[in-house]
Amino acid sequence: MFFCLNYSPRINLNLFKGVVSPNKMDYRKLTEAMRFAVYKHRLQKRKNDNAAYIIHPFGVEEKLEKAGVKDVDILCAAILHDTVEDTETTLEEIESQFGENVREMVNDVTDDKSLPKHERKLRQIEKVDFIAEGSLLIKLADKLDNLQDILEYPPINWNNERVSGYIIWSRAVTEKIRNRAHFHFQNNHCFSYLLGELEKIYEKSGVSQSGMTLEKYIEMMKI
Ligand code: ZN
Repeated sequence: MFFCLNYSPRINLNLFKGVVSPNKMDYRKLTEAMRFAVYKHRLQKRKNDNAAYIIHPFGVEEKLEKAGVKDVDILCAAILHDTVEDTETTLEEIESQFGENVREMVNDVTDDKSLPKHERKLRQIEKVDFIAEGSLLIKLADKLDNLQDILEYPPINWNNERVSGYIIWSRAVTEKIRNRAHFHFQNNHCFSYLLGELEKIYEKSGVSQSGMTLEKYIEMMKI
């Protein structure tokens, strides 16, 4: 993890270096997104190590920077990507503070909690065809951050079946994004970086789909 944060809205000034330094407004927008997300996630802990949840959205943002993403709205939406799904935050709040573009991306990557969990997982795959380019990058970075954590420190209550189910489902989302990026966003090298990093993780995990439908793997996640 690139730095540790203890529920404190202290901002690491090295963050975003090379991304937005010439533009004070961009820098301010990113630090505002960090402050907002730190506050909104302040009561949440990660499942695997009980650390502050905010480490995850910051990890997603960091991966996008590494991939070469420079668009401030995509980076803000990455920092905010779990606020609506996991906290009391509304999309209206996101729009009023960060604009319509950020709202659209946060909405794209937010699961509909009125659906059963199994359906939500399938819906994530279907949605790949309709969501914005920036949202797809956030989705890849989100999967990358989650998979790195799950494989390194599996949550205590996750058995091997559940981990395998998660990997196969993540891979199905990734492959759909790879397909869409191949046809529509060939000039965006950020996709190649993230897809390459994900491929390394899938190979390292040694888990591959065999003999069972995707639905069955999603059931194995028992979520
Ligand atoms: Zn996330």
